[in-house]
Amino acid sequence: MKIAVIGAGIIGITTAYELACDGHEVTVLEKTGAAAESASFANAGLVAPSGMLPLSMPAWPVTSALHFFRSLGQVAWKRKISSPELRWLWQWSHAGQSDTFLANRDCLQHLYAYSQDRMHQIAAAAQLEYERSTGQLHLIHSEAAHKTLQPRLAALKEAGVAFLEIQPEDAKKIEPALQNTETLHSAIHFPNDEVGNCRQYALLLKNAAQKMGVRFAFNTTASHIEVTPNLAVAIHGDPVARTYDNVVICTGGPSHPALAPLKIRLPIASISGYTLSAAIREPLNAPRSAVTDMNSGIVITRLGNRIRVSGGAELGGNPATQDPKAVQSLYKALQNHFPGAAHYPSGTQIWKGSRNITFDGLPVIGASEIPGVWLNLGHGPHGWGLSSGAARVLADLIMKKAPAVGTEHLRADRRPG
Ligand SMILES: Cc1cc2nc3c(=O)[nH]c(=O)nc-3n(C[C@H](O)[C@H](O)[C@H](O)COP(=O)(O)OP(=O)(O)OC[C@H]3O[C@@H](n4cnc5c(N)ncnc54)[C@H](O)[C@@H]3O)c2cc1C
Repeated sequence: MKIAVIGAGIIGITTAYELACDGHEVTVLEKTGAAAESASFANAGLVAPSGMLPLSMPAWPVTSALHFFRSLGQVAWKRKISSPELRWLWQWSHAGQSDTFLANRDCLQHLYAYSQDRMHQIAAAAQLEYERSTGQLHLIHSEAAHKTLQPRLAALKEAGVAFLEIQPEDAKKIEPALQNTETLHSAIHFPNDEVGNCRQYALLLKNAAQKMGVRFAFNTTASHIEVTPNLAVAIHGDPVARTYDNVVICTGGPSHPALAPLKIRLPIASISGYTLSAAIREPLNAPRSAVTDMNSGIVITRLGNRIRVSGGAELGGNPATQDPKAVQSLYKALQNHFPGAAHYPSGTQIWKGSRNITFDGLPVIGASEIPGVWLNLGHGPHGWGLSSGAARVLADLIMKKAPAVGTEHLRADRRPG
């Protein structure tokens, strides 16, 4: 079949690759001049089948959710929150208490485990060498925080996710350069979580997909989708719409005008965060893999010869405006946990990106209400980790094959309860 994929982020690229594996004729339409220039550019790099990522699943009453966002020091509170954003926040925290919460969490965990396996298979088949490390350490600062985590850890245990609760001094056996461990209450080690360079993987997979015949059209903005007489994508500045048998929307979020005919009513909010990427000055002082400070939600990861520090959660707000306080908190966290590990020449990269988070924390993978138009978006804080599984699931659905993981909870027509 002739298939257009709109968007060349990690989701669009993995989707195009899987569709090419199934023998389709695939074209990726991307509005910017290169692949992985948007949310997939410089994320924290966690591939966490434990599901333990900041913002990973709604689990709080709304007051705690408000407190959580405040504690991450975001500028969003300096402006008025719009009513759709407030509604989303309420639905998001409500989803953490809903009857479907446990089923949603299981669905996410299955998709994650499947995705990690698929990522490894693809990396081996396409011989992708990307910056990678294994393991995630969570730092717990108080008895209260330790207690709050217990129900979540019990659920992970039940789901068979491997982790180890350890004493502060043992955290140093896993991350020998970690400092100030004496101030910790404890730590949790997730040995099967990983770190990988999302953009590097995306660019390498794009090359592999091109070798399989996938065409990439850059500087090509899909302006809307036409349904009659044939399914077609209208391109900005192009008088003739391009016809396809199927179109897959991988634009990250649902708000682009290209999606105008698809009345997606699923509540999705855009939550921005920051990363700082700095060159390693002394490898002995640097992390080996991933360290997450549960107090601040800041994640410190190792990417080859660089350290990446990720944090912040701005609900809405302007993605182009940087909050110096949020950026400073990244430098501070690195200095606190791994002093002397990085050096900061003028080339230190500060990046701000957006996560498109659905009201229930699950992505949207499946058919839209228009026949032939498919959705693979709204992956929130998990887009990189879920990309390979989400892409394979979508490719199976297009081929009318039963995917390896259940998709009932991922449908676009689900609604907040
Ligand atoms: C600070 C931060 C840290 C994160 N950390 C992690 C992490 O540790 N682990 C993890 O798994 N995830 C993480 N994420 C989330 C992850 O980065 C995203 O979920 C993922 O990159 C989304 O990929 P995507 O392809 O859907 O979107 P994008 O990468 O944004 O790609 C969408 C593409 O669509 C294109 N596009 C949009 N509209 C059109 C149009 N009309 N026509 C043509 N092209 C169009 C855009 O230009 C863009 O290239 C993090 C995100 C942030 C912001």
